[in-house]
Amino acid sequence: MAIIIDGKSVADKITEQLKQKLSQLQDKPHLAVIQIGNNAASTIYVNLKKKKAEEIGIKSTVINLDENIEEKELIRIIQELNKDNSIHAILVQLPLPKHINENKIIKTISAQKDVDGFTAQNTGDLLNGIKPKAYPCTPKGVLKLLKEYNIEIQGKHAVIVGRSNIVGKPLAIMLLNEHATVTICHSKTKNLQEITKQADILISAVGKKIIFKDMVKPDSVVIDVGIFKDENGKTTGDVDFENVKDIASYITPVPKGVGPMTIACLMENTIELFKNNKKRV
Ligand code: NAP
Repeated sequence: MAIIIDGKSVADKITEQLKQKLSQLQDKPHLAVIQIGNNAASTIYVNLKKKKAEEIGIKSTVINLDENIEEKELIRIIQELNKDNSIHAILVQLPLPKHINENKIIKTISAQKDVDGFTAQNTGDLLNGIKPKAYPCTPKGVLKLLKEYNIEIQGKHAVIVGRSNIVGKPLAIMLLNEHATVTICHSKTKNLQEITKQADILISAVGKKIIFKDMVKPDSVVIDVGIFKDENGKTTGDVDFENVKDIASYITPVPKGVGPMTIACLMENTIELFKNNKKRV
């Protein structure tokens, strides 16, 4: 029976440490969150981030923009935020409406304020083994969980299912930088089960139930990044938790696994950008 990795309590511990840190500072970091349109899931995420920021003592401003906003107007707003010295971190809530080019928008955010670590400079630094201004929050959260539970990464075979720019790809680089042997799988991967069964550390970031007991090596570490609602409206993850927990050595639940870590890391990134920003001025 696996040890259940308690992401919620690790995240609460980080929150507490950040609160302490900020209570000693006179100036407070200021996070700007841009939300376009009224996507229900985005609204939930934005509200969670705002609430967590308030709890820690980070100032946050949510900028709600119309679904039909023109791309060039959005770019202008981000450029204003880049110039605004009272803003230390900028987050554009994804996904964006179809008429807006996501890459162009991410490119507009100043690397110094890129709290998600998605800009070309920050991802390029990550790829080159240079410390970026901010690490992408979900991969950072996954690594923190592995370290918190003293799970060895070096020399282990880490298999990631999912190759998105926000989770799979940066996580692969971060694990590689920690000396894991990394395999990335995706929707065109043949014989997924053969590959997942070789994983010492199996991480799934897909968004549907895809990892079952017969795909998991006994005593491996299973990290579930996926979050979605099942047919009964219940929040669940990619992994068949009830059965996989019987053979894994460690496993994250959904909810209360990776999710709270993502938000905690976002808060940590905001504070780090704020501090770096202060050093520059
Ligand atoms: P995404 O951009 O939709 O990427 C999903 C990935 O899964 C793609 O690379 C896709 O392959 C792959 N995939 C789809 N079907 C597959 C299959 N049958 N076999 C193998 N791979 C398959 O999603 P994302 O943004 O990375 O998010 C993934 C999940 O994580 C979602 O449930 C999301 O809600 C969740 N999430 C959670 C957190 C958190 O804090 N816990 C943060 C971010 C995301 P292709 O590239 O070939 O299409």
